[in-house]
Amino acid sequence: MVADLRTRQLISGRWEDGEATSPVRDPATGEVIAEVVVSGTASCAAAVDAADEAAAAWAATPPRERSEILRRAFELMLAERDQLAALITRENGKVLADAQAELTYAAEFFRWFAEEAVRISGDFRSAPAGDKRILVTHQPVGVSLLITPWNFPAAMATRKLAPALAAGCTTILKPAPETPLTALAIADVLQRAGVPDGVVNVVNPHDVGPLVSQMLHDPRVRNLSFTGSTEVGRILLEEAADQVVRCSMELGGNAPFLVLSDADVEAAVSGAMVAKMRNGGAACTAANRFYVASEVADEFITRFGATMDGIRLGPGLDPASQLGSMVSLPERDKVDGLVKGAVGAGAQVVAGGRAPEGIGAFYPATVLADVPATAGILATEVFGPVAPVVIVSSDEEAVRYANATEFGLISYVYTRDMRRGLRIAEELQSGMVALNRGVVSDPAAPFGGIKQSGIGREGGFDGIHEFLESKYVAFEL
Ligand code: ADP
Repeated sequence: MVADLRTRQLISGRWEDGEATSPVRDPATGEVIAEVVVSGTASCAAAVDAADEAAAAWAATPPRERSEILRRAFELMLAERDQLAALITRENGKVLADAQAELTYAAEFFRWFAEEAVRISGDFRSAPAGDKRILVTHQPVGVSLLITPWNFPAAMATRKLAPALAAGCTTILKPAPETPLTALAIADVLQRAGVPDGVVNVVNPHDVGPLVSQMLHDPRVRNLSFTGSTEVGRILLEEAADQVVRCSMELGGNAPFLVLSDADVEAAVSGAMVAKMRNGGAACTAANRFYVASEVADEFITRFGATMDGIRLGPGLDPASQLGSMVSLPERDKVDGLVKGAVGAGAQVVAGGRAPEGIGAFYPATVLADVPATAGILATEVFGPVAPVVIVSSDEEAVRYANATEFGLISYVYTRDMRRGLRIAEELQSGMVALNRGVVSDPAAPFGGIKQSGIGREGGFDGIHEFLESKYVAFEL
């Protein structure tokens, strides 16, 4: 067991017991890290009470004060980066280098939105008919429910908390049951940074569906920000409909990675390593399908296969490991099943392809070639370290395959010709495109998807507006 952890829920500034407790396990060893509170009906209701009671005062706090709290949270998170990163590794399984990168990224949301908190602008103009003035201001939406997944337990929490607090909303954070400790540690950082009682509450229900439904049916909850699967997002959109709760949704992806005939293959392989292997492939932005032009396919597959084959698999806390454990055995078995299905359909294993014997949810870096275009793995979000490669004969074919999905989060394109790349970027049906890059995420840029990958944007100038309502006042002078 790890000492000095926050393991109780946070309600109205107090760390409280809940209705039960449950162990959080290290997925690399199965060892219990801590017993953590499990929230029931009364706790979830108390969290809404607390957020509601704190709402008016927080909305009225000077923006500069909110900004400075967020800035202190940024500094505290960076000062405590190594301990927080180790905690992420313990409960999530990812390697320390990935956890540290996540921590830096997560802290940056506090810095970015500290800067945005004091720049919420409005609008004042004459109506076209000249009969009145149009004054537009922005006000906080109100109590916001923030639901996060286990893959980036710190960054997904700060990406929601930071704009919510900057906008003047109070919050109830519900982390994934697999990774509650990081969320509680971040709430502790915010508390030490000076967030008033009730502005940030954290609950950890395990009877998730009914208890989130309970909160979404409380008329005081006005906003839902969710990151997770499209399947759960769809349920939550329905749940939110009854009280017409405003929603922003970051849902699943099925990112295509296009290597065009003129691509710099070495650069494409480096980009593929990041796009596929960042966070062990457990990212909604992870490259999920590789469409490679026939002219460069042999070279790409050989080099990519060799690089993936060299990835060292081992416990996340061992600095020699390059790929850690997956978050759980069911996740590992799902990935294993997808690989077996593709091989059964005729795919060739170029690297990895088999779960190692022994304890822990490990799966090796895997490359599959000759994957039939109809294989199930190309239509499923793998969420693990597996790269299926399909050879294509033209840009048009690559774009057609890339767009043949209900998802539209991100696409990757490699080409030496920027005009060709930009043209294809326009044709790709996704909210984000990485052009000759393996990663796009940046707190200063709008992150989000189209089609069934989501509604709304996080980060950038858009992010704070997920937590603001426009108010229009009409008057004559
Ligand atoms: P993942 O596949 O990444 O685990 P999920 O969509 O299952 O994605 O989970 C993301 C978040 O949604 C987690 O916090 C999880 O507890 C929560 N969740 C899962 N099912 C529901 C539900 N029916 N209602 C509300 N939240 C849910």
